[in-house]
Amino acid sequence: MFVDEAKIHIKAGDGGDGCVSFHREKYIAAGGPDGGDGGKGGDIVFVADTNLSNLIDFRYKRKYHANKGADGSSGNCTGKNAEDLIIKVPLGTVVRETESGRILADISDKEPVTVAKGGKGGRGNAHFATSTRQIPKFAKPGFKGDEYDVTLELKLIADVGLVGFPNVGKSTLISVVSAAKPKIANYHFTTLTPVLGVVKVEEQSFVMADIPGLIEGASEGVGLGHEFLRHVERCRLIVHVVDVSGIEGRDPKEDFEAINRELSSFSQELADAPKIVAANKSDIASPEQTAAFREYIESKGYQFFEISAAAQKGTKELIYAIAQKLRELPPVKVFEAQPLTQFELDEKLLSKKEFDVTTEGGIYYVEAEWLWDILRSVDMDDYSSLQYFQKVLRSTGIIDRLEQQGIREGDTVDIFGFRFEFVQ
Ligand code: GDP
Ligand code: MG
Repeated sequence: MFVDEAKIHIKAGDGGDGCVSFHREKYIAAGGPDGGDGGKGGDIVFVADTNLSNLIDFRYKRKYHANKGADGSSGNCTGKNAEDLIIKVPLGTVVRETESGRILADISDKEPVTVAKGGKGGRGNAHFATSTRQIPKFAKPGFKGDEYDVTLELKLIADVGLVGFPNVGKSTLISVVSAAKPKIANYHFTTLTPVLGVVKVEEQSFVMADIPGLIEGASEGVGLGHEFLRHVERCRLIVHVVDVSGIEGRDPKEDFEAINRELSSFSQELADAPKIVAANKSDIASPEQTAAFREYIESKGYQFFEISAAAQKGTKELIYAIAQKLRELPPVKVFEAQPLTQFELDEKLLSKKEFDVTTEGGIYYVEAEWLWDILRSVDMDDYSSLQYFQKVLRSTGIIDRLEQQGIREGDTVDIFGFRFEFVQ
């Protein structure tokens, strides 16, 4: 089974907790705080593995969790960072956040990409000693690791994509110009999975993809076609293979237009992609048939090649023309990661703004799951970052609630162990 889409859940490790501890030594009375910081949680890292050709493994295992960092310990010992969790995917896998559809990463080269960051370790109490607070009895818990539902989508990396109706000779073509050995037979949909072949033209080489046959209605999910159109998306050049002999009782012009309609209903980009037309099975077509089709195609401004894949006629001219064209075209498309804008981040956070405030021993504890995300993004040593944090507290109604519960200037607020003085 060829699987080119999968939905999984990834969760980076949480940071280890900071430690509360005081230095103890014989004959030394009140030792200072010496609680160490927690270690960092493991990241979730995606890396391409060229031995993998599809996403089938992800049908069986859907949850990927990296470990938590170790907690800090006494003697100023920082907890160990957890190891990253490496997820191997086929080259060309695009990782999207399922909910928003935004692209988190495109694993289209050998570079590993961190998709979910592990939480930082919480700080131990050793950090919190000040001249007025010599016995800090608190430490910070570790920060939560990123967590996402993601959709993996394999978009093959090929320079050239062969498209056309079933049985026009696409698999035959790739088998005679490259070392790829796809199944070839005289019935429709012999090819059920895309096949890649490397084509060598003197010093140059390029990757050609044999895409299973498109049929009319493919972009609406009829037949096999739609599923596979995504594999043409990155291609630099489309070679449109048409059966010019009309041996199956079809008209080459109509076939050509039907496939073009499929491409444009899938995406404008595919419609506009550079194309070359290969009129195959010319060995069994009459010269008039071929000439009429050539005229039609050339009048539309496309390069036209008359070939017989089975007899290996005209195939050399075709691949030389492809190689020439590729030298002029931009490289294979890589999808950029799409970070959330500040606006989207705010929207996301504000959409689930339930929170809870409790008071204990004069400290105001604010609890809200979503505040984790904010806390992680805020750099407490940076003024504008802090201002943003203030803004969130105000716009979500947390400040109002604190005031309703009687907070006064100088009182302590605790959010997941992060403490600060309340200022109006
Ligand atoms: P695909 O479905 O487009 O991949 O088509 P195939 O490559 O599987 O070919 C379908 C049928 O057409 C097979 O029986 C091939 O032998 C035949 N065929 C392919 N190329 C040619 C050709 O140039 N001339 C003739 N006469 N038959 C061909
Ligand atoms: Mg085929």
